[in-house]
Amino acid sequence: MLATLVDEAGTIVARQGQDIEDHSPEVVIKTIGDAVDAVLAGSKDKTVSGIGIGSPGNVDMATGTIRYSPNFGWHDVPLGGRLRDRYKMPVFVANDARCATLGEFTHGTGNGTANFVLLTLGTGIGGGIVAAGTLLLGSLGGAGEIGHHQIRATDGFICNCGKTGCFEAQASGTGLIRHAIAVAPSFPRSALVSGKPEKLGSKAIRRAAEAGDPHGLAAWNRYIDDLSRGLANIIAFVNPELIALGGGVSSAGDFMLSALRPRVDELTTMVPRGMTKIVVAALGNDAGAIGAATMARRGALTTAG
Ligand SMILES: [Zn+2]
Repeated sequence: MLATLVDEAGTIVARQGQDIEDHSPEVVIKTIGDAVDAVLAGSKDKTVSGIGIGSPGNVDMATGTIRYSPNFGWHDVPLGGRLRDRYKMPVFVANDARCATLGEFTHGTGNGTANFVLLTLGTGIGGGIVAAGTLLLGSLGGAGEIGHHQIRATDGFICNCGKTGCFEAQASGTGLIRHAIAVAPSFPRSALVSGKPEKLGSKAIRRAAEAGDPHGLAAWNRYIDDLSRGLANIIAFVNPELIALGGGVSSAGDFMLSALRPRVDELTTMVPRGMTKIVVAALGNDAGAIGAATMARRGALTTAG
């Protein structure tokens, strides 16, 4: 969990990070409160207009109640209400991936782009869609759950949501590890699998691929193919000008982009090829905090531009 103080320009001027082991609502709300206190203590000479929170799960944005958070095992936790009682200032709560999309749109790579998609390639795939300058939320705040469209419904990995071959199952950082395990029998002398399988990390696979290791490259090529399938679908669904990739896997930078762009072009059929810019996101792990602060300053997640 990260609490930050963000100025009007979107610059983080104070930050307080805290690991949360116990996910019970009381402990999490107290930990958030303590971290907010710590950053507010450094803001005595400033006017704080409100508090914005990005949370995993489905959020009732009108009240700030977390309807459902699978990560925390929460149902109907009134996070926004509790913090409003404590701080006597406006508190806004939204899904963390939507907040990150808003942050990257207003203060990162999406700045100046009207049709924009952010994808975060981490343990899962988080995302968000901006169309005609407005962040899409959908009727229940679920728009942008790009990770759960199926790209390999018959031969894919089982997704955490229960379906087979979701984009997230195939193309998240976890997906890269699954690809490496899937092709491992063809590489019996691979250095990547000499340790315990549970120790295998996406960073090690990416590094091995960059170094030309045959096992790493085999996994990486399968990964890039699946990532490209999802991106081509997104291009067909929403025709963005720009797709920004964040999360750990995007650290591969040009090594990833140079493989990805031509494959996405091959799979792009209904709009002109080569027109969708694909780049690495600019704000990294701070995108969510900057987006949540932007939401608090605007008084809403969805205000255009
Ligand atoms: Zn899924």
